[in-house]
Parts: sequence; structure tokens; C-alpha cells
Amino acid sequence: MPTDEGGTTRTRLERDLTSLTGRRFDLLVVGGGIVGSCVARDAARRGLDVALIDRDDFSSGTSAASSKLVHGGVRYLRRFQLALVREALRERQRWATNAPHLVRPMPFLLPLLDDPVGRLERRAFLDLYELLAVGGPRVKDRDQRAPRHRIVPADTALRMEPALGRLARDGALVYYDYQAESPERLGLECVMDAVAHGAAVANHIAMTGGLRGPSGRLEGVLAEDRIGGDTLEVRARLIVNATGPWSDRAADLLGLPQQVAVHRSKGVHLVTRAFLRGFAVALPSRAAHLFAVPWRGRTIVGTTDSRYEGVDERLTVSEHEEADLLLALTRSLPGVAITPDDVVHRYAGLRPLVGALASRGDTYHATRDGRVVVHGASGDVISAVGGKWTTSRLLAERAVDVAEKRLGVALRPCDTATARLPLAPDGPLADHVAAMTTALDVLEEGLRVQLCHTYGTAAPDVLRAGAHDDRLLQRIGPDLPHIPAEAVYARREEMAVLPDDILFRRTSIGPLGGDTATVRRHLEEVLA
Ligand SMILES: Cc1cc2nc3c(=O)[nH]c(=O)nc-3n(C[C@H](O)[C@H](O)[C@H](O)COP(=O)(O)OP(=O)(O)OC[C@H]3O[C@@H](n4cnc5c(N)ncnc54)[C@H](O)[C@@H]3O)c2cc1C
Repeated sequence: MPTDEGGTTRTRLERDLTSLTGRRFDLLVVGGGIVGSCVARDAARRGLDVALIDRDDFSSGTSAASSKLVHGGVRYLRRFQLALVREALRERQRWATNAPHLVRPMPFLLPLLDDPVGRLERRAFLDLYELLAVGGPRVKDRDQRAPRHRIVPADTALRMEPALGRLARDGALVYYDYQAESPERLGLECVMDAVAHGAAVANHIAMTGGLRGPSGRLEGVLAEDRIGGDTLEVRARLIVNATGPWSDRAADLLGLPQQVAVHRSKGVHLVTRAFLRGFAVALPSRAAHLFAVPWRGRTIVGTTDSRYEGVDERLTVSEHEEADLLLALTRSLPGVAITPDDVVHRYAGLRPLVGALASRGDTYHATRDGRVVVHGASGDVISAVGGKWTTSRLLAERAVDVAEKRLGVALRPCDTATARLPLAPDGPLADHVAAMTTALDVLEEGLRVQLCHTYGTAAPDVLRAGAHDDRLLQRIGPDLPHIPAEAVYARREEMAVLPDDILFRRTSIGPLGGDTATVRRHLEEVLA
């Protein structure tokens, strides 16, 4: 529901379950990860009556477990997946333009090592990478553009990133991709946009089965409210299964034949104290794909890629996985003294991979293409599965194109390629931050910038949520760029139901290492 308070228009997310029942939607999206949120946004913007449910919180599944890169994927060039990379690069540019507060350029350092062939090969791949972006959408804000790659000599590489140590001895390549500071909040902004265009949405609602009419057609789903315990019937002409790595499970629940093989691959990340200055580093390692990326005053180390047979809702990182990743890191960067005590958070996710695997168990080389599949003869369910976080908008566009045909309606053209996210500033990011800093001057400087980036144009609203009590505007814990007012705001305006919704999705308190008993108690007091 759009509200107007103190000059800014924003959309309040209310968890009103009556809005899901008693009406027949055009489209029900099951799964509120980035794919489902993009589908709901696109469909609502094109004029469909849309509902969206997630059994947990929005963007709490795989979409919360990524490396946070918005990228074309340089490594896919080695397998000559040119179309995929080109597509992803275009989508990357779109996110950078439409959500500049949350998606910003990230410089990478790639050590060259004394290997003339490898050096030539790397340069050639980066030339190709940048060439593939040509002709695609151009990022308007100059500060948001990714500069061209260049070679830097050893001493410069070392100065840029002392952590490289002897890996810098033959110089390094500097190239650029993008980082999503909070993929979870980007997903939430897609949900907000869907609501602003009439969608009914609710988190913590699990689809448990199909509702079939007398002819056997699916007429909706049975769902369970995991907060209140009630059972709901949500009716729709068409269902979109956007349950990511659980797509085959959801198809089972709906009694549908499996029409696409979904493989799951587990990926693990560690969040450690910061040991990088500002450059992401791609590291040589026997581990599949080792890198370290600066993130909000910490460093993210990732990742693994191993086939996973389970369908667990919540994945954990085993001691063994953590130890292996730390070992690979310290072998690559012996100068960096990172121990288990420096790990402030660890997380794991399941990649939804579609199609055959190149060889048994080899998920690392499996395609990252996305698929839209129409199920059964009556075609009342569409699955949108696979792809990358970066390409989810495009996968959603394709899914809504198929939905349009299935529903036999003529919709408005898709506009999500150019439409800004609801909290994105209009002009250049620097202007937004400069304009906002006056409005936020009661906060210390580091917090001001962080709030501008995290909440975009809604930053003053967050401040207002804490205006009545000074304590709500102080850092929630040492070294955490968050204030308690954010929790109040998240509860009131952003459908944060459980403490984890606040700690891990609306804010980054949890991933930054702030999920402690003290912080939880503090938040409880604030919310009470
Ligand atoms: C380790 C790792 C690193 C990655 N890094 C990157 C990266 O840097 N860049 C990039 O572009 N991509 C990356 N990806 C890929 C990207 O994260 C995924 O492609 C994307 O998040 C998939 O989104 P999704 O919406 O399909 O799935 P999900 O985010 O998992 O969403 C599915 C949703 O369905 C819900 N659900 C399931 N069953 C039900 C039910 N019965 N009823 C209601 N809801 C249900 C779940 O709760 C979940 O929220 C990475 C993936 C992994 C695992």
C-alpha cells in the first residue's frame, strides 16, 4: 500500500492474509526468492492481478546465499558460453542503472603469475568479456560504470592489495564487475514494486498442495500460515513455481509430472574480519573457485560447488567445509593470518541447476542457464528455474511472456529492463548521498552513507522511525553499521515478522557477525 509521509512516497508491506483469499488471482507466484519476486513485479507491472507467497521470508533461500556478485561470469568464457555471458552482462548493466544504491562496481585483482600463455589467455578473455558488454545498455551514472581492465606491475598490485603477498610478484590484472550490497533488500524492493502495482504478498506462507477443480484442473494452492498456523486456499488461473532448488519438490506437492531435471549444488561462504583493502581477489587454488571479496567492512571468502542430494530448507556449513575453505585461503594467501576465530558468520546455499550434468557429480561446469517450463497438458503451472541471481529479471520476463500466452490476454509490454527499483535515487548516486547527508545529519558519517545505500530514498523514513528516542539512532553494536531504528522500520513498514527477518534480510546485522544474545535482547526491547 503506497503511503506518503513527509514528502517521500513508499510502499508499506503489510502481512494481510485476507488479501490472499476470497478472490481469484490471474497469477500466483510460489517462492519469493529473486526469481519469484521478479516474476511478481513484472506481472503486476504489466497489469495482472498477482499473489506471491514464500514459506519463509522473501529472499531467504538461495538468493540470500550468493557471492553477492552481479556479473557476466568471466569463468563461463572458458567454456565458450558466450550467449550466457552476454545476456548476464546486459542484466548486470541494468541492475547497476536501476538500483545504483545497492549495486555498485567492484574492482577485482587477478594475479598474473609467471605464465606467459596464461597471461595472454587471461587478457584475451577479459577483452572478450568487455567486448560482449558493448552494444548493451549503458550505465548512465559515470561513477557507476565499470572501467576497462588493465595490467598493473608487481609493486602497484601489492600496494593495491597487500594481502596478495608473493602472489603479486608478476603483477596483476585489474578488472571490474559489480557487487550487490544486499541481494535480500534488492529482492524486497522487487516485492515492494509488485505491491505498488496491486500484488497481494505474504511471507511465511508455505504451499502444501494443489487445489483441483471438478475437471482436474489446478485452481490454486493449499497453503499453511507458518506464523498463525491456519490453512489458506489461494486461488489463481495460473501458478508460477519459483521455488528455486525446491522446484521439483513443489511440482510433487502440486501432483505434477517432473518436466525438468533439477540438480542441487551446495556452495559455502565464510564472512571474516576484513583483510582486504577494497579489491576483490580471484585466487589460484585446487578448490573449485576461490575468491575473497570486501563487503561492508568484512571479507567474504567463497566458494564451494558440490552436488547435494538433500532438499533441506536450512543448510548449515560443516566444520569440515569451513576448515577446507580456510585452508585453501591460507595456502593461497600465506601472509593473511585468518583463523577460525576471525570467521564472524558462515552461510551455505543450494544452486538450482537445470539440464544434464557434464559428468556425474560435476556441478561446477553445469550450465547456469535458466528455464521456463510449462507443466502438464492443461498447462496451469509454469516453472521458472535456474539461471543466476544476475539474470533473474530476464528469466522473469520470459516467464511472464509465457504466462500471457497461457492466460490468453494482451498485457502491457515488459518495462522492468528500464524501470528503477522503488527506492532507487533518480540522479547520480553521489548526488543522492550528498542530498541525504543533510537530512541524516544527526547520525555519524559512516552510518549516514550506509543508510543512503541500504534504503535509497527511504533513508529519511528510517531515521524518522527512531526520531522519538535517541538510543534508536546509535550503532546497534560496535563495528556494526546499523541502528535500532532500522528494526522498528522493518517491523512497521517491511513485513519483517521474525527476528531473523530483521537480522538477516532487512539488515545485514547477522551476516556481519552481530547475531549475538546481546543484540537480540536489545532488539527485543526496542521492538517491545
Ligand atoms: C554459493 C552460491 C553462490 C552464488 N553466487 C552468485 C553470484 O555471485 N551472482 C549471481 O548472479 N548468482 C549467484 N548464485 C546463483 C543465485 O543465487 C541463484 O540463481 C538465485 O538466487 C536463485 O533464486 P531463486 O529465486 O530461483 O531461488 P531461491 O532464492 O531459493 O528462492 C526460492 C524460494 O522458494 C521458497 N519455497 C520453496 N518451497 C516453497 C513452498 N512449498 N511454498 C512457498 N515457498 C516455497 C523458498 O523459501 C525460497 O525463498 C549463487 C548461488 C549459490 C548457491
